[in-house]
Amino acid sequence: MSASASRTSWRNWSGTARCTPQRILRPVGEAALVDAVLMARRFGVGIRAAGTGHSFNQLAVTDGLLVDLTRHTGIVSVDRAAPSVTVRSGTRLGDLATALRRIGLALPNIGTLAEQTVGGALATGNHGTGLSFGPLSGMVTALRLVTADGAVHALDAEHDPALFHAARTSVGALGLVSSITFRCVPAFNLEVRESSAPLDTVLKDFSGWAASADHISMSWLPWKPEVGIRTMDRTDAPPTPRARLRRYTTTVQELCCGVTGVAGRGSSTAVPLLSRALALPLPGPADYVDVSDQVFTFPQPVKQIALEHALPLDRTPDALRELTGALKRAGQYSPYSVLVRVGAGDDSPLSPAYGRDTGYVNLTVSRSPGQVELLRVIEHVMRAHGGRPHWGKAHTATAEVLAPRYPRWADFQRERSRVDPDGVFAGDYAVRLLGPVGAPERAVVA
Ligand SMILES: Cc1cc2nc3c(=O)[nH]c(=O)nc-3n(C[C@H](O)[C@H](O)[C@H](O)COP(=O)(O)OP(=O)(O)OC[C@H]3O[C@@H](n4cnc5c(N)ncnc54)[C@H](O)[C@@H]3O)c2cc1C
Repeated sequence: MSASASRTSWRNWSGTARCTPQRILRPVGEAALVDAVLMARRFGVGIRAAGTGHSFNQLAVTDGLLVDLTRHTGIVSVDRAAPSVTVRSGTRLGDLATALRRIGLALPNIGTLAEQTVGGALATGNHGTGLSFGPLSGMVTALRLVTADGAVHALDAEHDPALFHAARTSVGALGLVSSITFRCVPAFNLEVRESSAPLDTVLKDFSGWAASADHISMSWLPWKPEVGIRTMDRTDAPPTPRARLRRYTTTVQELCCGVTGVAGRGSSTAVPLLSRALALPLPGPADYVDVSDQVFTFPQPVKQIALEHALPLDRTPDALRELTGALKRAGQYSPYSVLVRVGAGDDSPLSPAYGRDTGYVNLTVSRSPGQVELLRVIEHVMRAHGGRPHWGKAHTATAEVLAPRYPRWADFQRERSRVDPDGVFAGDYAVRLLGPVGAPERAVVA
């Protein structure tokens, strides 16, 4: 078998999930992915895929076979006419963006993390920000999927469309995605502007605010009445000298948050005070132009825990208003800002953006017990406002909570039953999220 195997244990990036699978395989090439699936079948064990482990929950955990895809990398082909790129699923998003930039192409919109694999990002509904731009799943025009019987399915909108659309947000429950074809655009630069505004003003016309730039986000420290706003608009202007320095400003801010989180543990007043004290002057120009992927992503070395919900865009302002009070009542603050992003709807059945323009509300906390409690506060509020949790972030939702939030839940379950009738890819955590294979109606009704 052209795959290296080991019995070592596995843990995710944030240290919140661990397992000691019977085997960890690191296959390279589609044939090795097929071999991995057939090996698991021979030994009668379950399989979970893992990318770089940047999901905050137990998604990749298994006591069976863990297929680590981080060596299954590289561009398979580029179609310059389309334009599109086909890439192996273990390729890191940042490596793909860099390779595309070198040939004058780009993905239209990406999230903030360059290190994750494209397969892991796709499986969990990864998104950036921008009301005219859907999540990563919306950029996929084809993919190849190795299912539980070892078959390789070449999927697109014409060939087995039901499985194709389900596999664009699969939570790893349909098989191993071998390669993905992404629609691209010509490489572009973004002009970044940073400003602040009263939270109330932004919330009064939230959809107007959301549409006021190609890409827009809001960072909000809940003890402050003002929010930080970052807009990113496409421009023909060249990169600003020293622009790349600004890429590290959010990294520096995150490092300060990490320090604040540890130092301010257990005190309701320490976090705002320390946060003010550590507000350093930032290097580089305040407004600048840079190539798109360097604007969208930034290095994120600080280990933390994040929870994010996808809300109907028009319910996001009320959710944020309610959150202000709920976080104040919690008696403790996270040193990290609440991050609000926006996006267009999507048509993949398990996409958190399915069928609606979306406001994404993210809270990051330090890895300490009191801070983790804050996640429950925000989850409660987000759920009450129609939120769907990010599949790759921390949350407590089960199939009973999730099924009614996804109008095409049963369509996904039908495909799951068809390609994985024995539940080979149904790890304990995936069963908690999706219910057992073959029980779609039960999950919806319960
Ligand atoms: C610092 C940080 C920043 C982040 N920023 C964003 C952001 O801006 N926007 C956003 O939406 N999310 C963001 N996330 C969440 C992140 O995008 C997801 O957790 C994503 O799944 C991470 O990819 P990964 O390669 O680490 O996947 P893993 O966490 O390793 O795997 C996630 C799941 O994907 C499935 N999977 C992985 N590869 C395959 C494959 N080839 N075939 C089938 N299934 C597969 C498996 O079931 C696996 O369990 C961030 C996370 C972190 C830690």
